[in-house]
Amino acid sequence: MQAAQLLLSNPVARGLNILGDRWAILILREVFLGQHRFEEFRTRTGASRGTLSKRLETLVHNGILYKNPYQTAPVRYEYRLTDKGRALYPWALLIWQWETEWADQLSANIPSRLTHFHPDEHALYPVAVCRHCREPLHFDDVERVVREEEIKSAPKNISEFGSQRRSRNSGNNSQLLGHVTDIIGDRWTLLLMAAAFVGLSRYDDFRQQLGVATNILADRLKMLVDADILKREEYQTNPPRFEYHLTTKGKALYPQTMALRQWVQEWLPPVSHPFTLVHRNCGHELQTDVICQGCGEVPGADEVRFS
Ligand SMILES: [Zn+2]
Ligand SMILES: [Zn+2]
Repeated sequence: MQAAQLLLSNPVARGLNILGDRWAILILREVFLGQHRFEEFRTRTGASRGTLSKRLETLVHNGILYKNPYQTAPVRYEYRLTDKGRALYPWALLIWQWETEWADQLSANIPSRLTHFHPDEHALYPVAVCRHCREPLHFDDVERVVREEEIKSAPKNISEFGSQRRSRNSGNNSQLLGHVTDIIGDRWTLLLMAAAFVGLSRYDDFRQQLGVATNILADRLKMLVDADILKREEYQTNPPRFEYHLTTKGKALYPQTMALRQWVQEWLPPVSHPFTLVHRNCGHELQTDVICQGCGEVPGADEVRFS
């Protein structure tokens, strides 16, 4: 089995392929914060009109948002979440949580506090847990188990996977990875993270298995090391060879990745994937819930206020 195929059938990669790039993820963030109109998206994300139109079109096309007329002469539309889009709320909560805890500086439009009204008012701190044993989810507690079956309908190559994505193709990218959207909104960075989450760590393995050009790979690895998400360690001195391991900050991205994986499994058509994930603590196949730490319930978007 080709490793690139293996990564491409990865539910997380599939999910992000549906959602789109960092602009699309920024739009979704605004929708979850209660914005629905084109001009609001434009001012709050800084996206150009062309960029915004295309991303909104993709999100509507993929069934995440729908257009709702709010004015008739001339007709104007706002963008609302479908049920499939609303089901991304747990994932959005964990992105907020990671940003609050780990981002160098908080994005201007991110609320500093979430409040859960259920039934009494309390601070909401979202936590990903195993649906079976309710233990908080950690990267080190999850075992990747290979299934015996072949991939049947996974994308066949990387260009097919990437055809919808408007990724930055430059091999020399100076942007810093300050925020979740920078990491998951860039195709190669995302695929590198997906590879790290399935246990790859060596430069040569990344290069061979992702089929990525060396300049792009070196650039993305450097960005991830600079952002303190991966750390570089020499494992052989002559000639020097390096391994890249997830830091605590990198591992902290795992729960939101698993929340996205859960959404893919519940909302996208099934695709055979050679890995299954097992939660070591209870021995069950991993399913992820996002709960409020205070009350232990799964918060609904209508029960949460932000400030
Ligand atoms: Zn468990
Ligand atoms: Zn609560």
